[in-house]
Amino acid sequence: MSRIAYVNGQYVPHRDASVHIEDRGYQFADGVYEVVTVTGGRMIDEEGHLDRLWRSLNELRMAPPMKRAPLKMVMREVIRQNGIRDGIIYLQVTRGVAPRDHPFPKNTPSSLVMTAKRLSMAKAAKTAEQGVSVITVPDIRWTRRDIKSVSLLPNVLAKQEAKDRGAYEAFQVDDDGMVTEGSSTNAWIVTKEGRIVTRPTSNSILAGITRASLIRELEKNDIEIELRSFSVEELLDAKEVFLTSSTSYVLPVVKVDDQVIGNGHPGIVSQKLRSIYENFMAGEV
Ligand code: PMP
Repeated sequence: MSRIAYVNGQYVPHRDASVHIEDRGYQFADGVYEVVTVTGGRMIDEEGHLDRLWRSLNELRMAPPMKRAPLKMVMREVIRQNGIRDGIIYLQVTRGVAPRDHPFPKNTPSSLVMTAKRLSMAKAAKTAEQGVSVITVPDIRWTRRDIKSVSLLPNVLAKQEAKDRGAYEAFQVDDDGMVTEGSSTNAWIVTKEGRIVTRPTSNSILAGITRASLIRELEKNDIEIELRSFSVEELLDAKEVFLTSSTSYVLPVVKVDDQVIGNGHPGIVSQKLRSIYENFMAGEV
């Protein structure tokens, strides 16, 4: 089945899909996006992702490209036309096409693009079984990280550094030595005392949808968590480390920089939390 993209009202072959060179996403990174996991042909946390998309648009005073109900229909159609059972759908909204000038253009419709792709569940499961390594890097981003903007250059640089150093992810660290989040994931630790810790939402991090769902599921299971920042020292000293994101779910971390975490294998708590999250996903399908 050949890939199909949705571009401003049309379903087109992926290889032919394009936007104008004066799209403000291309010129200014003036746009926002979402990535939603598809499992068994169904979207996980669809409402949470759309709530966050609307929030990002609102924070940037950008008009939604269409109402929520038709947007959901287009998302379903993109999934259907690409025959996705397990994978992701990507959607991006920009402030439209206009002659290049910094201020917002007047009467310019937003651009909407969607793509979808398959992901291997078997590969993801294997990665989770082994655990991954992360590195730490300075957080060099702007102060509105709560907005899911397509302006991702610092995240790109961080991820490339992780890749260059053989790691899966880079945890970013603020000027006070506190971990903010990964380049595309939220960061968590389990302390020596067994406390599950993740940073509270603020303008300093993206409010991960996976993070929020995991917190909700843990509350349902009467598992306590601590919402607070943690330092690099605490990270290196943690009993367990894991990360969350729509594409990684709950993923155990077994090495940070050159420090082996625990016994170098996924910890008991991380594994339990992954299975709690997987049960939640199964319930969504
Ligand atoms: N932080 C950043 C910077 C991200 O890009 C992502 C991925 N969108 C996340 C956290 C995790 O968010 P989610 O669980 O919604 O995928």
